[in-house]
Amino acid sequence: MATIAEPKVATYQQYIDGEWVGAAGGATYEVINPSTEEVIAIAPASTREDAQRAIAAARRSFEAGDWSHKTQLQRSQIMFEVVKHLEEVSGGWGFLESQNNGSPIRKASVIDVPFAIEWFRSMAEQALSIPWYEPLPWIDQPYVSWNFVQREPVGVCAGIVPWNFPLLFTMWKIAPAIAMGNSVILKPAAQTPLTALEVARAIDETGLIPKGVINVVTGPTIDPGAELVENPEVDKVAFTGSTASGRNVMREAAATIKHVVLELGGKSASIVCPDADLDIAIDGTLFGVFMQQGEACEAGTRVYVHDDIYDQFISRLVDSARALRVGDATDFDTQVGPVINRQQYDSVLARIRQGVADGATLACGGGRPASVGDRGFFIEPTVLTDVPSDSTAATEEIFGPVLAVQRWSDINEVIQRANRSIYGLAGGVWSRDTRGAIEIAKQMRCGTVWINDWHLLNPAAPLGGYRQSGVGREHGIYGLREYTEVKHIMVDQNVPRRDRYLWDTLLG
Ligand code: NAD
Repeated sequence: MATIAEPKVATYQQYIDGEWVGAAGGATYEVINPSTEEVIAIAPASTREDAQRAIAAARRSFEAGDWSHKTQLQRSQIMFEVVKHLEEVSGGWGFLESQNNGSPIRKASVIDVPFAIEWFRSMAEQALSIPWYEPLPWIDQPYVSWNFVQREPVGVCAGIVPWNFPLLFTMWKIAPAIAMGNSVILKPAAQTPLTALEVARAIDETGLIPKGVINVVTGPTIDPGAELVENPEVDKVAFTGSTASGRNVMREAAATIKHVVLELGGKSASIVCPDADLDIAIDGTLFGVFMQQGEACEAGTRVYVHDDIYDQFISRLVDSARALRVGDATDFDTQVGPVINRQQYDSVLARIRQGVADGATLACGGGRPASVGDRGFFIEPTVLTDVPSDSTAATEEIFGPVLAVQRWSDINEVIQRANRSIYGLAGGVWSRDTRGAIEIAKQMRCGTVWINDWHLLNPAAPLGGYRQSGVGREHGIYGLREYTEVKHIMVDQNVPRRDRYLWDTLLG
């Protein structure tokens, strides 16, 4: 009689001090595939003790200097060698990402994997342009001295990330930190530790980065992350996650006055002008909000459409939204995958119901697609129109496939409405008039503005938020500089004692 094979469940270990180890207490937890609700892996359930081991390893490696004391050229050249290996072994990463966090495999293969590797390469390349020594302008006040600025690595850095782009975030935290000579501990989200561990495995296989420079600790609770934020041996925390958690991280990091960079939530607004190319604006709006089923911090979840084109825009947008194929993320036909877990599924559906109760019109979606079975956390691409501007659907981050549409007729008034948010991560303008669009972009209070596009990130461009979307910047020279301390060194120019009149305020 034929037997049904049990699904394969991989057991992972975490990466501390160049070793593959279980959690200190030996505990493990289950990692779930959100498309099927099946267990796909077992990972170490770390505690604060594991984080402490990783911090100690990172500190040792930093002090030893095998990485931190290398020249920039040496570090970048080693990272370029690592990239060759990442390219060779990354064939399965797209599938794993898709299985673990519900990223549609087309997107995981075309965006997440190549972008992640490119980020690693680009950080190594851009680090070469950061000057480690910079002469200061001639100083002769109070007397002549020679002054320069020296940059140094910050030391031990922690990267704490959410579940929506686990592979990309792994690179966004590890690559700039090590490029600038730091040691790093990455704490992936509880739900999505797998691709982070695969990246660590691939880097480990090269044997090129000294042990302890990169560490990855996994766990189902916030405890290891909390340890990273509170421990005095950690010099910097680069946190990506919700605004609520960011507030806690900032507060907890204050006790030891750490460097903190926060990449937090968003409710990004786009303004569709009456002269917009509607083919571009409609497809771009769909891409902006429904890519990664709306679980993207910079998703364009609020769209303001001009009265003159409103009806046509909505009718075409809704037809296209209805046609999006929702299903198992590992299926190449899937355009919209599941949200991450049951809690997120319930939360998104509740927010949609609330939006309708608050007066919005449900133009499409709003529930579970008929085409999927009863397993998996699937939600239809949902468009809410004529959303009251003070309702939660218009103001709060939903983090699911939900678009809130409002009308406008006066450009100054709509810019004010777009800016009226606790968030300020991203924004967009859809218009054929480039000059006019740039004028609107300049008035939008957010860290990134796309004109006739969305989600386009570039490793050379700064990423970060205004207001409660965050503090500091990642990527490019802006992000790399945040992984350095800046030291002023003053060298006296043999000024005779009699001319050192400042000393005389005490000694004269
Ligand atoms: P979350 O804030 O719940 O968790 C993010 C990470 O922080 C997880 O690893 C979690 O374990 C850890 N964490 C939470 N509280 C902590 C604390 N007090 N100390 C230390 N670690 C702590 O976020 P989430 O629900 O996993 O992700 C979704 C959120 O992330 C959304 O709000 C989204 O907008 C945001 N996000 C922001 C960006 C950006 O670049 N601005 C990018 C992606 C996601």
